[in-house]
Amino acid sequence: MSVAPDKPAPASAPNSVGAHDTQAAPSEEARSSPCVHCGFCLPACPTYDLLGTEMDSPRGRLHLMDALESGRAQPTPTLLGHLDSCLGCRACESACPSGVAYGERLETTRALTVHAPRAEGTTSPWLRRALLFGASAPAWVVHAGVVVTAAAQRWLPGLTRGIAKRMGPGAEAGLELLARRRPRRARLPSHAKPDHTPKRRVALLLGCLHRPLSASLHEATQRLLLRAGCEVIVPPRQGCCGALARHLGELDNARARVAALMDDLAAVGRLDHLVVNAAGCGASLREAAALWPADHPRHAEALSLGERSVDALELLDELGLPPARRAVPRRVALHHACHLVHAQGVRDAPERLLASIPGLQLQALADADRCCGSAGVYNLLQPELATTLREQKVQACRESGAELVAAANPGCQLQIEAGLAAAGLGLGSTHPLELLDEAHRD
Ligand code: SF4
Ligand code: SF4
Repeated sequence: MSVAPDKPAPASAPNSVGAHDTQAAPSEEARSSPCVHCGFCLPACPTYDLLGTEMDSPRGRLHLMDALESGRAQPTPTLLGHLDSCLGCRACESACPSGVAYGERLETTRALTVHAPRAEGTTSPWLRRALLFGASAPAWVVHAGVVVTAAAQRWLPGLTRGIAKRMGPGAEAGLELLARRRPRRARLPSHAKPDHTPKRRVALLLGCLHRPLSASLHEATQRLLLRAGCEVIVPPRQGCCGALARHLGELDNARARVAALMDDLAAVGRLDHLVVNAAGCGASLREAAALWPADHPRHAEALSLGERSVDALELLDELGLPPARRAVPRRVALHHACHLVHAQGVRDAPERLLASIPGLQLQALADADRCCGSAGVYNLLQPELATTLREQKVQACRESGAELVAAANPGCQLQIEAGLAAAGLGLGSTHPLELLDEAHRD
């Protein structure tokens, strides 16, 4: 991963919505597969299912995005409401026979409209500003924010709840997600080698929000990669992957994050893979090259980063693990994280790996690949819709007969965990990697 200095951004194409982001424009690839209005994506769209209006369907939203781009429509609060209600789950992309790059179109449009006013009573402007700040703050600030918030919630619950209530439903939803977590620093050797010649030399991504919230997941991931024969490096300097900024439409921030990460990774030498255990971060990294035009010096470097970024489950499935050391006699339902199944096209690896665990019983989960409402920061920005989707997921989990729900994205895990607790169900949630680790630990 070589380091190339940034060059000044090229001028953007003229745009009716007043381009905020200097490099945000759909790529040629995205333009070359226009929507043919067939409607095959409609049954796959969770928000169309909930809201029932054409403008809240993938086809309707693409129409709005085209109208904005061509200047036939203005970014009014009503129009932006239809785009903001989109999860970005990309189930429509999986369903689309014409190969419409919906995710890229949405990202570009969000970048162009990120600071346009929204209708009152929808997304909390305060929370939106706080998230935008988080997306541009250094990773240690995000880390500290999570630790302080979780501690305040534990020791001063009344005060914390009161402050969140004044801030609005999104902040209350955020507290609910943190309620069952005890943030801590992961105990990870910075360089671990197997006893034999390593099959691959990999770096493990810790992320920003999930660094303190997913310490045990990171430890499990490193142990499993070692067991699969990888040399595992945990780069001491590594920040956020930029996914949070991309969800919000802050592409300049996302570029700065990815560029810094590429520099940090270059410092650890040759790498076969950057291993990711959060589907949202992995999807964003795989598409890192889309952040820069093809003639930008960072583009080729980002392309290489994208090609080498891999979900831990996909890599373990490819490399194989030795026989498990113990049985894990649990009934488990597997939720397919949207950013793994739809954005990265990884569907079978998690199931295959779980099925390899002795004693583990996989329970069928209805609509397993339907979004749980987490969707990056959607559950904070659109708490009502997110809660409805969460309740649907919880109902499906209840009917599955499982005692544990596994999801390959820490964001989905938090969302489902909060839903299970709110419903008073005795079900737990986990990451498939943690179940695998339980089967393979010394
Ligand atoms: S990304 Fe998800 S919510 Fe948005 S239009 Fe596509 S299917 Fe619907
Ligand atoms: S996005 Fe794809 S599936 Fe949906 S209407 Fe357009 S062409 Fe058809």
